[in-house]
Amino acid sequence: MSYKLFIPGPIAVSEKTLRAMAQPMIGHRSTDFVALYQSIQPGLQGLLYTADPVYLSTSSAWGVMEGSIRNLTQKKVLCCMNGAFSDKWLDVAQRCGLAAGALKSDWGQPVDPEALRKALSTGEYDVVTIIHNETSCGCMSDLPALAAVLREFPGVISIVDTVSSFSAVPIKKDELGIDVIITGSQKALALPPGLSLLSPSKRALERAALCKTRGYYFDLLEFQKNHEAGMTPSTPVIPLIYALKSKLEDIAAEGLEARYARHARLNQTVRTWALAKGFKLFPKEGHGSVSLNCFANTLNVDLAALNKALKSKHGFVIDGGYGKLKGQTFRISNMGDETDATMADLLKALDAVLADLGVK
Ligand SMILES: *Cc1c(COP(=O)(O)O)cnc(C)c1O
Repeated sequence: MSYKLFIPGPIAVSEKTLRAMAQPMIGHRSTDFVALYQSIQPGLQGLLYTADPVYLSTSSAWGVMEGSIRNLTQKKVLCCMNGAFSDKWLDVAQRCGLAAGALKSDWGQPVDPEALRKALSTGEYDVVTIIHNETSCGCMSDLPALAAVLREFPGVISIVDTVSSFSAVPIKKDELGIDVIITGSQKALALPPGLSLLSPSKRALERAALCKTRGYYFDLLEFQKNHEAGMTPSTPVIPLIYALKSKLEDIAAEGLEARYARHARLNQTVRTWALAKGFKLFPKEGHGSVSLNCFANTLNVDLAALNKALKSKHGFVIDGGYGKLKGQTFRISNMGDETDATMADLLKALDAVLADLGVK
């Protein structure tokens, strides 16, 4: 049975994107590939408001999340933790054998700029990891405020994960002075999974050059060397690069401002709908994500029953809570290609299912 995903990743992929993937293969050392690679750089750099290169990694986001801390940490990495993905980044750092410290907030609370300043003031750290939009609990941290603190510590390399916010809100890498931005394909970009992007600053590459254990697959200098030739270190997932090119054309056609406005509007539509039902936003007031909503299940709805009916009767799937929040929260994505009409269809179906479950 076919159904449409409104979970916060992977999300629905358009027919146009799927068709873009179905093209004949080209050699990854051919001039055709170099032309493809180079043709998408301006679009990617435009989305990040950066002059830095944007590497294409054939991996999910975790590949470059792990690779970047391995390449860049000489002393100790500070992991800002406020949800499942950012919590996991500390665990990954420890599994890599890196010295790592935690800056913990409760799930749903944004990363606190003041606490970040205090932690970095110890001088212990030379790398910091931040998740801009904690998808697990729908919490968006204030990136400009955090970046202002980071600029006070020029010896600290910042790595920011924008997996679920990239292209949904403006992320001005150069203006903010962020060293490394990471994103994945299957969330805000509405591509199938399997591709991730990483954009490093010059400072980050200089730091990587000091590391003797960069390995190969995620070696930033290997990426840079190949980037200069319009290529990737190893054979990349060419169909997803076709899809990325097609998506960048869609984004250019819509216009960035219109794309941001659409995400904000659809996000608000869903939020207004849920609050009117009596649900509450899970993350801290003023820090709700713009690309998804995470609601506290204040009406004690049987979320498993809700999703079962939603899928079988209406062909839609939402998320019933991530990890320890399963059953207590639910999440609805408005990332990617959603429109007023597609969100209205989902909310109408949710109204019907909730009515069947006794919620008005
Ligand atoms: C989904 C997600 C990840 C992990 O992505 P994978 O593609 O599974 O590696 C990392 N960070 C955030 C914020 C995410 O939403």
